[in-house]
Amino acid sequence: AKKAGRGRILAFHHGLEDEINERRFIEQELRLALAEDGLTVAYQPIVAGDGLRMVGAEALVRWKHVVRGNIPPGVFVPVAEQAGLMIELGEFVLRRALADARDWPELFIAINLSPIQVRDRGLVRTVASALADPGIDPSRVVLEITEGVLIDNPEDAKQRLKELRALGVKIALDDFGSGYSSLSYLRRLPIDKLKIDKEFVAPLGRSANGGVILQAIVALGRALGLSVLAEGVETEEQRLLLRLAGCDEMQGYLFARPMPAAAFREMMGRGLVL
Ligand code: C2E
Ligand code: CA
Ligand code: CA
Ligand code: CA
Repeated sequence: AKKAGRGRILAFHHGLEDEINERRFIEQELRLALAEDGLTVAYQPIVAGDGLRMVGAEALVRWKHVVRGNIPPGVFVPVAEQAGLMIELGEFVLRRALADARDWPELFIAINLSPIQVRDRGLVRTVASALADPGIDPSRVVLEITEGVLIDNPEDAKQRLKELRALGVKIALDDFGSGYSSLSYLRRLPIDKLKIDKEFVAPLGRSANGGVILQAIVALGRALGLSVLAEGVETEEQRLLLRLAGCDEMQGYLFARPMPAAAFREMMGRGLVL
């Protein structure tokens, strides 16, 4: 038993070491990718509540590593946040997405902001400059934040969001319902839009009461005067139920996957109806 116990401890140490090495590797390679233009931005269509017509697109950062292939943002964004690279990564996405969005003036463009960016005093100036360079109408821009912005200094975050809104951009609360005490955050944050996490969309159509929470969230958003978007829509049944629930917008693999700018431009060329 003792032997097995030691083995487990050793295995644990090895696992930890691997993890640390992996983080170090990602961090080093990410520094290079940022310096050498190795990141790209993909776009996923957002459709109107009827699920038929495109109204916007979400910008999602992509990284294709020469050896490793595609490394998902769920892996490297947290590393960027911890390694002090998030401001730079975030500015790259802002500038690229707003420059690309010039090619599809009929759509709004949604861009994710890390809580680290929201904490940054330079953010408002960066956004203003990224808007001005390609001459993007700020009312076409939605900045997606998460409740994580409230962790350190909620008053500071609120102030920053107010300044962003004063530029004319809109603010969406992303992943709504997936975290903690989301209801109190709703009252406290100056936001325009709710993005309902896919966790609440997935059960739709699977069980009889799978839609109860979702319907309640949509009703809540509407009562607060917010626009409501459901993400992770994968089936026709989910689309129908979300439409019945009164969702304003939808996004998910049912309509289209995120795609490179060139493919998105091509799709736009065929019109707004998917
Ligand atoms: P998110 O902001 O919630 O983005 C939605 C994620 O769901 C994207 O994953 C998208 O590809 C995926 N998705 C879209 N439709 C469906 C569907 O029907 N089913 C399922 N299962 N998934 C769907 P992705 O691109 O891997 O991004 C993951 C997360 O990484 C994002 O979640 C966001 O938190 C973060 N992220 C991505 N790009 C950026 C960025 O430019 N800046 C920041 N700060 N975070 C980013
Ligand atoms: Ca998002
Ligand atoms: Ca989300
Ligand atoms: Ca998410």
